[in-house]
Amino acid sequence: MSYQARFTKPEHTGIVIKEQVKCGKPNCRCANGKLHKWYFYHYFRVSNKGKWFLKKKYVQKGKVKELKQVINKTKEAKDREKNEADKQRLYLLGLKLFKEGLITKEEFEKVVYAVNNY
Ligand SMILES: [Zn+2]
Repeated sequence: MSYQARFTKPEHTGIVIKEQVKCGKPNCRCANGKLHKWYFYHYFRVSNKGKWFLKKKYVQKGKVKELKQVINKTKEAKDREKNEADKQRLYLLGLKLFKEGLITKEEFEKVVYAVNNY
């Protein structure tokens, strides 16, 4: 289930960020603010024993587009599943209210209509 992607495939989530680099040599031009070239990094969270850790991974320039697509697809699938879950909750709420006599059949039908056109 892709909604669980952050647990099962954390490397398909997160964000790709372009960063400039400091090499760390004290006399280098980058120490004075003239940073080196851009590199791409993938930031994502991984869960370990109930705790979340931020991971940073270097991404080859040629792999950036593909990785962004994978992340987008994972996010879209997650949003779809979240929508379905929301619809399901709304429907069950309407059904509960109807069964308890708190809304009329017409009101319940409005809920069903709203769910179907969500
Ligand atoms: Zn440097």
